[in-house]
Amino acid sequence: SKAKLFDEKTDTRTSFKDVAGLEGAKEEVEEIVEFLRHPDKYTSLGGKIPKGALLVGPPGTGKTLLAKAVAGEAKVPFFSLSGSDFVEMFVGVGASRVRDLFKQAKDKSPAIIFIDEIDAIGRARGKNNFTGSNDERENTLNQLLTEMDGFGTNTNVIVLAATNRADVLDKALMRAGRFDRQIYVDLPDIRERKEIFEVHLRPIKTAETLDLDFLARQTPGFSGADIANVCNEAALIAARQEKKAVGKQDFLDAVDRIVGGLEKKNKIIT
Ligand code: ATP
Repeated sequence: SKAKLFDEKTDTRTSFKDVAGLEGAKEEVEEIVEFLRHPDKYTSLGGKIPKGALLVGPPGTGKTLLAKAVAGEAKVPFFSLSGSDFVEMFVGVGASRVRDLFKQAKDKSPAIIFIDEIDAIGRARGKNNFTGSNDERENTLNQLLTEMDGFGTNTNVIVLAATNRADVLDKALMRAGRFDRQIYVDLPDIRERKEIFEVHLRPIKTAETLDLDFLARQTPGFSGADIANVCNEAALIAARQEKKAVGKQDFLDAVDRIVGGLEKKNKIIT
């Protein structure tokens, strides 16, 4: 059966309200929302709307979430593809997938294309990586560059790509008219962790005494994804004990469990 490598979702449900913290990054992508909404306003004096921006930051910090929120706020379709999907592909397939993806997005424009883990296809050419055929990867990368150069200023498709390794990317990707903007998405500080807890506690029945400053202090180094995990885990821990609401101890137990998981992950790497 044919693997489905990208899916189109008119995701109008994700909004900037779902993205906690990341004020600087949000400000930068708000501009992209404006470009998608009022392209004519911006091109009226001869300016060119940017074609792409790179979201750079550690795993789980909200890059995908932010890209979805851009599509949601602009009310445009969201087409996505992950670089790691290309790892085991036959020669020629990657390039044609990229071509198809851009064609679909252009047909439905204005639109957002999101490429997660772009480093899997966008590593500097000529350097070996250990994921699949290098020729195939280069073909895919070349097709991506061709597509980005090919669409005109009035196409109104903006490509957002995410990576946690901007340093390994082929410089050709960052050239003017391609991913010429970089937006940093960092791990949350204590104040941002509190905001992320607020977002992820929305659907959870909590005990009234819950102190979010305390939870933020207990989670240094946690990403947004880790905090989302803590909230979910805490709700499951409390439910298992047939509690009526999730309390402080449930969160502390969940934090311990996530810390345990993170330590295991780090052990595998080192
Ligand atoms: P990766 O590099 O691993 O793909 P990412 O940076 O794309 O990660 P997301 O997939 O956007 O991270 O984040 C995973 C989940 O973590 C989100 O769906 C959301 O639930 C939560 N999350 C991450 N960052 C935030 C944030 N800033 N605000 C609210 N939720 C967040």
